[in-house]
Amino acid sequence: MSINRSRSASLHDDIWNHRGPVIFSPVFSWPVNLLTIFLTLATRWVTLTRAMLFLVIALGMYNFLLPETTEMATLSAGWVLSSLARNAILMIIVAGSLHLYLFTFSKQGMQLKFDRRQTMDTHKRFSFGNQVHDNIFWCLISGVPIWTAYEVFYFWGVANGSITALSFSDNTVTFFIWLLILPVFNSTHFYVIHRLLHWPPLYELAHRLHHRNIQIGPWSGMSMHPVEHILYISSVLIHFVIPTHPVLVLIHLYLRCLTPAFSHAGFEKLIVKGKSITEAADFHHQLHHKYFDCNYGNVEVPLDRWLNTLHDGTDNATAVILQKRRLMLQERKQNSG
Ligand SMILES: [Zn+2]
Ligand SMILES: [Zn+2]
Repeated sequence: MSINRSRSASLHDDIWNHRGPVIFSPVFSWPVNLLTIFLTLATRWVTLTRAMLFLVIALGMYNFLLPETTEMATLSAGWVLSSLARNAILMIIVAGSLHLYLFTFSKQGMQLKFDRRQTMDTHKRFSFGNQVHDNIFWCLISGVPIWTAYEVFYFWGVANGSITALSFSDNTVTFFIWLLILPVFNSTHFYVIHRLLHWPPLYELAHRLHHRNIQIGPWSGMSMHPVEHILYISSVLIHFVIPTHPVLVLIHLYLRCLTPAFSHAGFEKLIVKGKSITEAADFHHQLHHKYFDCNYGNVEVPLDRWLNTLHDGTDNATAVILQKRRLMLQERKQNSG
């Protein structure tokens, strides 16, 4: 893989203020325990988690803010731009408040912060020479419009009859099954798309932009090249083909587009008044930003373990990945020599 890296990693890099652990969801643990699987998949929707927040926002959006079906049957600037504005506001509230809380006002100090650096980067590799400004720019100028495009095409398709949507009353069980499996489906899609994005031509074209962030913060999550946004959010296309309830589509979009603000927050949990209130980032993806050639998925499905791409956060795993990289560089030198 011929990827130039802006920084080389060393075993002696002492960058961690707080480490892991990397813990996969017990859904795929052996032996199979159906009760554990059900509780793991269901609990997130009824406890104080971001999943529950997305469920509440989606219900509010669907019931109170979406235009009438007759209006959405025709693509017009009015409702399309109001969808864009709503999504931009959601992104600004979620990523912005996390950034203000964790970085600007440093409300939990260094507690549970993975990277020991306290401020985000200012470097010429970023647009505007400033990591936060760069990240906000790509989030809002590319991420939100592409997210909105998927949303608009879905609701336009439903309104004009080219996409089938299911009612809740006739398909209640199906609705809850979708709710349980969405994070598993997204995790699998993410692994596949993300490995594809590490294919050198696609990395150079698109994914390099996201990887300029070695230290990460809430705005880094959706700071991606437009090509990456299109691929990353494409998991929602499943609802264009398999009929579901529209609220599930909104939840799916929020899981895709708002979760990265949490998963890149750089802190394992959010602490308010000394009490941990909810999960934020996971060490698994923090390691991906540090070491690149590992942890392509997330902790919902242990694809990294099954496909031998896991960095579990230990020094041993770091040694293995650095050795692999040395061999790769040697090989490349020999080939070019
Ligand atoms: Zn990332
Ligand atoms: Zn990557």
